[in-house]
Amino acid sequence: MLSSKLWPAHPKPLPDELLSSWIVRIARANGVKLQTMTHQLFGDALTPWNRDIDRLAPKWLLKAVSEHTGTPYWDAYRTTLTCYRDRLYPRRLSSGQLRWILPLKLHSTNRQGYGLQYCPECLAEDVEPYFRRKWRVGFFTFCPNHKALAHDACPGCDSPVAFHRRDFGHGINEAGEMCLCNVCRFDLRRAPHIPASVHDPEVFALHKEMLLALDMAVSETGRFDIGFHAVLHQLCKIMVSKPNHDRLRMYVAERLGIVTLDVAHGPFPFEQRRVAERHHVLSLALWLMQKPELRLTEAWEAKVVRYNTLSKDFKERPAWFRGLAARFSDWRKVNEFAANSTKFIQKRPNWRPE
Ligand SMILES: [Zn+2]
Ligand SMILES: [Zn+2]
Repeated sequence: MLSSKLWPAHPKPLPDELLSSWIVRIARANGVKLQTMTHQLFGDALTPWNRDIDRLAPKWLLKAVSEHTGTPYWDAYRTTLTCYRDRLYPRRLSSGQLRWILPLKLHSTNRQGYGLQYCPECLAEDVEPYFRRKWRVGFFTFCPNHKALAHDACPGCDSPVAFHRRDFGHGINEAGEMCLCNVCRFDLRRAPHIPASVHDPEVFALHKEMLLALDMAVSETGRFDIGFHAVLHQLCKIMVSKPNHDRLRMYVAERLGIVTLDVAHGPFPFEQRRVAERHHVLSLALWLMQKPELRLTEAWEAKVVRYNTLSKDFKERPAWFRGLAARFSDWRKVNEFAANSTKFIQKRPNWRPE
């Protein structure tokens, strides 16, 4: 049935839809099992489901899907996470951690990482539930439309979301909607609404603005450029790093008048942390990003962060941050700098470079 070039049903990608989600909907619309469709197209050797196709979509896969659905190639390409290059991370990496992109930690076709999040209310509002690109972003910790903490697993069995495995071992008619957990069949649309914690309304508004910018073209995102996201990532990294001994995180929590949560200090990337922990750390790091010149200077004066820490493994820092951090390079100047910092900050109230 699927031998012709244009398949009988050829749905187009929905707004912000992930490639993997789109392919699963295409199989469903044509009444075939996902495994059958991908086997017919690529055979076992090239099955796309043992790799992260949303992050590393091979050209042959995009070409085949675009031809069989009558979709322009570049529209198919835009369903991948490559859309975040030059915004969240600087260049494609075939392996290793990509800044801000949640890892799936694949083992064969199984997922062991909590790398695909979702908002139950967004899924419930969909005519046909589907999964978004932005749900793979590490700072997408709450839905800006529903003000609810994102979920990163099935609330029924705590399994990572793996909708492509839904019809494995089942008939096409038993598989059901994409929003059913592939392990326990919990309907993810019924996952509880957990209000996103708000420590500071202005920081929450900044976070929301940053999330809404994910839906905009790169030219329209304003201050939320690659430099902003890179510095925010560095601050999150410092806040959970062992060498900092929680100093920066405790300091910001104290300034906000809140109790900071315990976080793991293991040698694993920020993106491998669960959503509640990421949300908490982000809310503290974004407080610094609101007024980085003022607040980082104060943090440095309070001796909770050092020049070496701010610059560690951070070669691609933006010029404004490089200049700011450079002023913290000599402890002997702390008194002299403290005297001048107020004047400097008053002259340049905004965090952005001119
Ligand atoms: Zn939502
Ligand atoms: Zn489940």
